[in-house]
Amino acid sequence: MDSREQLGEHLKFLTELGIDGISRDHAWRASDRPAAPTGQALSPAAVGQGFGPALGAIRADLGDCTRCKLHTLGRRQIVFGVGNPQAKLMFIGEAPGRDEDIQGIPFVGRAGQLLTRMIEAIGLKRDDVYIANVIKCRPPENRNPEPDEVAKCEPFLFKQVEAIGPTVIVALGTFAAQALLKTQDSISRLRGRVYKYGGAQLIPTFHPAYLLRSPDKKRDAWEDLKKARALLDQVSTETVERRT
Ligand code: URA
Repeated sequence: MDSREQLGEHLKFLTELGIDGISRDHAWRASDRPAAPTGQALSPAAVGQGFGPALGAIRADLGDCTRCKLHTLGRRQIVFGVGNPQAKLMFIGEAPGRDEDIQGIPFVGRAGQLLTRMIEAIGLKRDDVYIANVIKCRPPENRNPEPDEVAKCEPFLFKQVEAIGPTVIVALGTFAAQALLKTQDSISRLRGRVYKYGGAQLIPTFHPAYLLRSPDKKRDAWEDLKKARALLDQVSTETVERRT
């Protein structure tokens, strides 16, 4: 794709998100509006090399996990997590799908490509954030994770969150939001508010796979991501102010 086509694709995507105009004005670009697309190439950090020591210890503890039945149900590999071990923003999804199971990296299939564009739309790159799932192994035929599988796997997610210490967590879809907030409420009930999760602020939003099926919900998801970006900016401004 040449750069004109890339720009065209990006503008189409912004329209899908409900952004109805762009401006050449610098103030517009410096606000919470989207940055230019940065492509899909994954750096070594993005493929999971260079975990920090704390994440490395969690990965070692997980080992070649046989704690739940998913290890007997056709998983190719464990999909641990990807990105910056000191990320201020963390995205948490449900479970690996087919592409993730093959590549060992979360969110690399169609839903993942949408997530990548959403991250770029708030002016960040995949390498800036950390991405993980509640469940580390692919459920057969991409069925929903079952309660016993969530119970065995979620402690590793909780440890990942603790090791990374993000300022903002975006929970993608019902399973992530329910695991982190310890509730049975659906994502539609949960989204639209900011919750506390330890020292982080947690924003529940729709799962990108759901957004692919229900594009009319992209505008809501875009509001949630803008909120995440605003919270990040607010915390970094407060940190600078405290230092000066
Ligand atoms: N859906 C998820 O929830 N996680 C992935 O890694 C991919 C698709």
